[in-house]
Amino acid sequence: MDGSSEAARSGRAGFRKIKIFDTTLRDGEQSPGMSMNLPEKIEMARQLERMGVDIIEAGFAISSPGDFENVKTIAETLKDSVVASLARASKLDIDRAWEAVKGAVSPRIHVFLATSGLHMKHKLNMTPDQVYEQAVEMTKLAARYCADVEFSAEDATRSDRGFLAKVIGGTIAAGATTINLPDTVGYTTPDEHYDFFMDMRERVPALEKVTMSSHCHNDLGLAVANSLAAIRAGVAQVECTVNGIGERAGNAALEEIVMTLFVRRESYKAETNIHTEEIMHASNMLTGITGVGVQPNKAIVGANAFAHEAGIHQHGVLSNPLTYEIMTPESVGLKESNLVLGKHSGRHAFGERLKRLGYDISKDELTKVFRKFKILADKNKVVSDSDISALVDETMVGEGAVGESSVGEQSIGETAFGEN
Ligand SMILES: [Zn+2]
Repeated sequence: MDGSSEAARSGRAGFRKIKIFDTTLRDGEQSPGMSMNLPEKIEMARQLERMGVDIIEAGFAISSPGDFENVKTIAETLKDSVVASLARASKLDIDRAWEAVKGAVSPRIHVFLATSGLHMKHKLNMTPDQVYEQAVEMTKLAARYCADVEFSAEDATRSDRGFLAKVIGGTIAAGATTINLPDTVGYTTPDEHYDFFMDMRERVPALEKVTMSSHCHNDLGLAVANSLAAIRAGVAQVECTVNGIGERAGNAALEEIVMTLFVRRESYKAETNIHTEEIMHASNMLTGITGVGVQPNKAIVGANAFAHEAGIHQHGVLSNPLTYEIMTPESVGLKESNLVLGKHSGRHAFGERLKRLGYDISKDELTKVFRKFKILADKNKVVSDSDISALVDETMVGEGAVGESSVGEQSIGETAFGEN
């Protein structure tokens, strides 16, 4: 971290602080192919803490003995971040969650219960009155253990607003310090989500005394937009995951929310505690652990997200990077040297770059591609990631080793970089 990011974190006058609640290790891990073992979870949790995440949801303690151990160990390891465990609104769950997080410097119990008609009737088999009673009683129980209690009204966005307001009022009175209103099924839209939070604030004045939180899913590709609308409506905590992993189409992507608030801070008058230069590292770590990569054009962390950089160097037309950059690669932790390879680059650096771009090729193949790279580097001085991808694809396709080719797309991209 450098001095300037330190200054950015000290807080600007008139700027609201938005807490980042990361649920990569719970909601994220719940999705297919994302399971992590204990050492992997600890490594990830440490990186989240290093990145400045305010609250880390480490798991769902009652879901398995393994998850209990994970939450407990993370709780005992971390020092700066709040460590939360999820719990259904039942005594057994809450007892188990507290057992798991009580060793943390800053523990949180996160209790949830569904409030939508659909969920109450078809999943919980409970009447609204029973749901209200249970939400209030279980929040009270959690608050007896822990000063920091979050209550989530599952499927809040599809709940009857009058009933939801009653549950929110009841759980705040019972000791909840954070009220989270999830768009569990990714159904809402930004305008509607803004109105929803404004409406709830009007219906429940007590919300002003606690932290209001949003938790958005990406079924319609709107999770980040909805989270930002919620922030505009006064939410002070957003729940999100690294690379946007999570149930179905995923959760709101941490890096997209954080960088939007960073790049457009004057527009939102809000800021986070995230050390943005740690974002790439967190994204790569998660990809490395799970083996599940992000699409190349993924915002912020995709391999092509900053590919225009090389174009700029090649053409040398920019006197001011701001002409084409809304943020620098360095601001998310990409080093320029990682983006620019030239004729002076060695075989090792070249091999490392291929790995980072997701290529796993043999030594012989590396030798072939490296030779082509040297010829190109002599001509172009600078070779971009997309040039390298094209070289690899060309070499592999030439040998019939790779079925799918992105060469066509890459060359279109090249043209666009040059002309735009
Ligand atoms: Zn969720």
